[in-house]
This record gives sequence, C-alpha cells and structure tokens, in this order.
Amino acid sequence: MIALMQQTQVRYLKGVGPKMADILSKIGIETAEDLVYYFPREYEDRSDPVPVAKLEPGKESIIKVELVKLSAARTKRNFSIIKGKVKDATGAVNVVWFNQPFLTRVLKPGISLFISGKLERDPYSGAMSFVPRGYDVINDGNKDDLIVPKYPLTEGVTQKVLRRIIKTAIQGHVNSIADPIPDLIKEKFKLPPLKESIINLHFPKEMGIIAKARHRLAFDELLNFELGLFCNRKKIDATHGISFDPDGELAEKFKKTLPFLFTKAQDKVLKEILADMKDSRVMNRMIQGDVGCGKTVVALYAMVVAVQNGYQAAIMAPTEILAGQHYNKISSLVGDIGIEVLLLTGSERKNRKEILSKLEGTKPLIIIGTHALIEEQVKFGRLGLVVIDEQHRFGVEQRMALRKKSEKLDLLVMTATPIPRTLALTLYGDLDRSVIDEMPPGRTKVITRYVSENERTKLYEFVKAQIASGRQAYVVCPLVEESEKIDLKAAEAEVEVLKKIFPEHKVGLIHGRMKGEQKEKIMSDFLAGKTKILVSTTVIEVGIDIPNSTIMIIEHSERFGLSQLHQLRGRIGRGREQSYCFLTGNPFSDTAKARIETMLKTTDGFKIAEADLKLRGPGEFLGVRQSGLPNFRVADIINDEDIIREAREAALMLIREGFSPQSFNLKIWGDKLE
Ligand code: ADP
Ligand code: MG
Repeated sequence: MIALMQQTQVRYLKGVGPKMADILSKIGIETAEDLVYYFPREYEDRSDPVPVAKLEPGKESIIKVELVKLSAARTKRNFSIIKGKVKDATGAVNVVWFNQPFLTRVLKPGISLFISGKLERDPYSGAMSFVPRGYDVINDGNKDDLIVPKYPLTEGVTQKVLRRIIKTAIQGHVNSIADPIPDLIKEKFKLPPLKESIINLHFPKEMGIIAKARHRLAFDELLNFELGLFCNRKKIDATHGISFDPDGELAEKFKKTLPFLFTKAQDKVLKEILADMKDSRVMNRMIQGDVGCGKTVVALYAMVVAVQNGYQAAIMAPTEILAGQHYNKISSLVGDIGIEVLLLTGSERKNRKEILSKLEGTKPLIIIGTHALIEEQVKFGRLGLVVIDEQHRFGVEQRMALRKKSEKLDLLVMTATPIPRTLALTLYGDLDRSVIDEMPPGRTKVITRYVSENERTKLYEFVKAQIASGRQAYVVCPLVEESEKIDLKAAEAEVEVLKKIFPEHKVGLIHGRMKGEQKEKIMSDFLAGKTKILVSTTVIEVGIDIPNSTIMIIEHSERFGLSQLHQLRGRIGRGREQSYCFLTGNPFSDTAKARIETMLKTTDGFKIAEADLKLRGPGEFLGVRQSGLPNFRVADIINDEDIIREAREAALMLIREGFSPQSFNLKIWGDKLE
C-alpha cells in the first residue's frame, strides 16, 4: 500500500533520519507533501558555461573546468587559503578559496567541476583570479543536471542534501498527486498538468520551462484564494439584508445643512452606496480615496439614511483621537437635524452604562467608537449600518466581529491607503469598490522639501514668519514600539528645544500614551489656535483635520515608512493657504533615500503606494494587523497581476458551474479562509 503523501512524515523517507527531520521542520517541512511543494527560490543555469578565455572581471559567471592543481597555504594572519588552477579548452585561470582547508581532501587534480563566482583582481598583487561562490564536482549522478535549483535553506542542511531528499519524496509520491483543476479551466487558461509542473519546478530540463510551471502553481494558489473570496461573497449576497429607503426628509435636510456641495466623485460614490443600501441584499463595499478627499462625509450621509429608516449606525475608528474627532465633527454636522450621536471608547468610562443601554435599545442613533465597539458586552438593538474607518488598520476578524453584531447589516469600509489595484483585487475581492478620485475644491498642493541640519536655523525663521502670519505647525517625531521610551523622551526633549526657539509661542505635545481627556484638551487647544506648534508622535497620522496648520516638520523622516509619510503629509494642505512639509533626518539606507525622494517627487497617493509596495513587499506594506493575506509560496501578488486576473475569471466560471472550494483539494498555504 502506498502511504499518502500528506501523512508520510519526512523522517520515514529514505535517507532522512529524526535529526534531519528536526532540521527540516524548522523550514516548515513535516511531510512528504511539504517537500513536494517546497519550491526553489532561484536556479543556476549550467547549460551554457562561460569559456575561461571569455571571463569578464566582476561579472557573475559559471565555468565548467578541469582541476589542474591545488595547494594549501596560510596568510600572515593564519587564514587558510586554497589556491587552485583550473582549465577548459579555451584557457586556464587561478581559483582562490578562503577558509575552506578541507577542500584539499575533497578536490583532486583531474576532476571536472562547475564553479560559479566572479573573476576578480587581487588589490595587493594585482593578479586576476576566480573567486568562487559555489562549486559542484561533476559525476555520473549529476552530469545531466544542467539547471540547478537553489532552495531556501536553514542551518544543518545543504542544497545538495535537500535536493536529494526532495527527489526521493517526488519519486515516491508524485504519481499520487491528483490534478484538482477541471479540464475546462485547464484548457481555457492553457495550464500545463500539475504533476509535470511540480517536476519541472524542481528539476527543470531547461530554463524556458520554469516560467510555465511557476505559472501553473501560482494559478492554483490564487484560484484557491479567489474561490474562497467568491464563496464568502456568495454567502454575503445570499443574506437577506435591510432595504433602506434612501429618500426622505432627514437626508434632504442633512444635504442642505452641509456647508459645501459634494464633489462629482463624492456624488458618484454616494449613488453607488445608496443603491446598495436600497437593495435587499446586504452591502459589502469599500470606499477608497486619498486622505482628505471627503470619504467621511459620504459615509455620514449613509448613516443618516440608516437613521432615517429607523436603524442605528456605527462608525469604528482605529484610534481614540480619531474617534473623538469624528464625534465632534459628526455631532456638529447632524446635531442640527436632531440625530443623537454617542461616543464609546475604551478609556471613556463615564456614561458608559447609559451608552450601552441606549445601544441595546431600538432608538435610531449614530454611535462612534474604537475597538471598544466589538467587545462582547456591547449589544445593539437595531444596528443597520456599520462603517469602518481606515479599515486597513483593522484585521479581517475585526471586520467580521463587527458584522456579527447584527444579523443583516450593511457594511461600508473606508481606506485612505491607496491600495494598488492588484493587491486590492486579491485582498478585497469580496468587497465592491468605490473610489473617490477627486479632492474638494480649494486645496493647495503641499510643497515638500528635504532640510539638512545646517539649514535648520533658516527653517525655524521660516516657521516663525508663518506663525506670525497666523499659521500653525506640526512637528512629528518618530515613535516605534521597540524603542518607545527613548522615543518619547526625544519627543519631550524636542518640545523643550522648540520652546527656547519659539519663546513667544505655546508649544504642545501629544502622544499615544496619553489619556483620552488629555489628548482631547491638547487637540482642542491646537484647533482653537492657542497652541501654535504641536509636537506629536504618529498619533496624528490618521484623519486629523485642522486646516490652519500648514506646516509639518517630520523629524528623522528616514524612520517612517512611505505610506506613513504620505498619511502624515495629508494632515496639511487642507485649507486655502499654501502648506509646506519639511523632511529632516539622515537617510542612511538606499530604501530610506528612495522613500524621501518619492515624497519630494509626488503627492499622488497611488504612485506613493505602488512605490511603497515595491520597496517593502505586501506583508509589511499592509502592516502586521492585516491578516487577510495568505502567505503565498509561489504566487507574487505584485508581479502576477495577469495570473490574478485569470484566477478570478476561473473562480467565477467554477462558481457558476456549481463548484465550491470543498470540491477541490488545492494545496493552499498560510491563513485559512473563512
Ligand atoms: P477623508 O475622510 O477622506 O480623509 P474627510 O471626509 O475627513 O476626508 O474630509 C476632509 C475635509 O474636507 C473635511 O473638513 C470635510 O468637511 C471637507 N470636505 C469634504 N467634502 C468636501 C467638499 N465636497 N467640499 C469641501 N470640503 C469638503
Ligand atoms: Mg477619514
């Protein structure tokens, strides 16, 4: 009987003992199946070695040579050097191995070998020699392996050993792999067979077939993911929701009392939202738009519609400051039309009981809150609409937890992180998307400058002049969790420095560790113009809206991520006056430099997000909280846009045909789908 590959523990494979099994488990390999699906990261192409006579200095090359002689030596500092001479039909070259004294035992003159490395000039003697990165002695067993896979390794296992083990696993099990994808899909998308693709990825006969094999495996992963998303979506669509009537007196009044007219983009998005709300299916929609484009007011309109229909509407924000600000703004916007607005946060203890009992009641109202809203004790009597602000700051479970607060509610999520299209398709494929791609009129473009240390005096002169003409300034200091204490001290010290430079003005400080009330007082002093300069850690990152603050100095800008810098800069340029963003600090690394350069070059959120995604990769780009993204092994959501599109199309076809993810046995990694 053949053991199932999912159940075959690696230690029972030929040539793998318990010790090697332990090592392999460190790279997530437990079963024969894990080995079969453990793919190389890159390949070494030996099919076309460089003739020795044609080697170019400094260029990574592979040579196929015979070893002519080999000798061991020691440097003055007693390092081992192995000097060899190798030749092919075109010529000979010296090879120098450092610190590998055992090589004299392994390599004997007369053997043939592949060596990868570079021709380099010795800085002292001026002599040219080949400095190897790797080598492989050619024997009967490997003479036909012209393309050599390179696997991600861990200590205790070499490429050669891992490769042999994988070969064993594949020989033993590849025939039991069933191809789960129906022929109709394989034909339509010209997919090669699964078995063949797996073998080709591990042991390609030529470089040309790797891409196709990779495509197949990536397709499988993405198809599986997309199927999950569509099934989620189908479940949601099948849920009978509330059919809100968008027309009514309250909504009319709200629109009339707004101090501005909606932009075209806001109108378009609002229309999409209202159509969803009217529909008897539940809404699952995302509003995407750059900071300050006016998402919140659009969402507020939807909340007013919910209230008008006799329901409660909730909005959840990621920080207390933001929730507080929403509360103030929303209260002032809908207070006049007689809608009750409540605030619930973790630290807000007074009136808590009263608020909770109001929520359990059935009177229509608007509730604004933080994560506190999803706590167990918080129950809603008549929740009809949920809005999640800055949704990328919440995990998928939190989105789901809020959804579960009521049987059939409409969900609206908002994000100011302009998630590039491909990523959005993959991640939020179960959400409908509305984009606000236009700014309210009267916004000025922020001027951004990099300021070096010796320009600081000039910078402060400039800030003084701006304050004299009535403006205000943010000074942002970095704060990361690992060095929180030191960072807080630095922010406090910054306040003292600024007080000396600006003795005639009030300088305030705000950071995430402060109590809700304290923060509120500081923000309201700043809003009222009592404080002229506000030193802050990144708590002002999201949503803060104080149009008179037209200057932002970002200290140690090299320590911020690109999207974060963009979000920060979005706090200014909100009024009629020209705004200025000054980046200080010392960009030591290339990526830090690239980030700052991008900030100087563009204010387009989408361009910045794409650059950020490329610099950091999707995992970090979205932050640790984002748990919606599986850890794809083969698929690359930045570069596989075409495959993502195909996988979506295929998933749709399959769903129409009545397939479900359960009818597949697709190999899937990472987080489980709901
Ligand atoms: P977002 O949530 O997208 O960052 P907000 O909804 O907070 O943006 O809007 C930013 C600011 O612009 C707020 O002060 C808001 O009142 C204002 N605003 C929104 N829409 C318009 C508009 N159509 N015209 C003028 N001002 C607007
Ligand atoms: Mg907002």
